[in-house]
Amino acid sequence: MAGIRQKDTSAERLVRKILSSLGLSFRVRNRDLPGSPDVANRSRAWAVFVHGCFWHRHAACPRSSTPKRNRAFWEEKFRQNVARDRRAQAALRKAGYRVVIVWECEVLRKPERVATRLERRLLKAT
Ligand SMILES: [Zn+2]
Repeated sequence: MAGIRQKDTSAERLVRKILSSLGLSFRVRNRDLPGSPDVANRSRAWAVFVHGCFWHRHAACPRSSTPKRNRAFWEEKFRQNVARDRRAQAALRKAGYRVVIVWECEVLRKPERVATRLERRLLKAT
């Protein structure tokens, strides 16, 4: 898994900025939580994943193309990534966490829309 996930991408930075602007406190790189959510708050039981469209297979997104070379290898790798994401989200929900997925293309292009969703899911529901 090392090398798969980009660390501290601009999408992640943007999400942290949005959360801070909403007055939400959080920790980054939560390795002790299922799936190591990029951002999480344990006491308020929420977790946010900032997903790269390519690695995490954003549906119908131009960034989630499949390389033509070694196609079987990539398809298997992507399948594993998506399965791991599903397991992590299910485990977090089972533990009572609210889980929000933010796609990198979405936050880079429509940060205000992501801010609205994060506010609705994480702030108003508490
Ligand atoms: Zn995307």
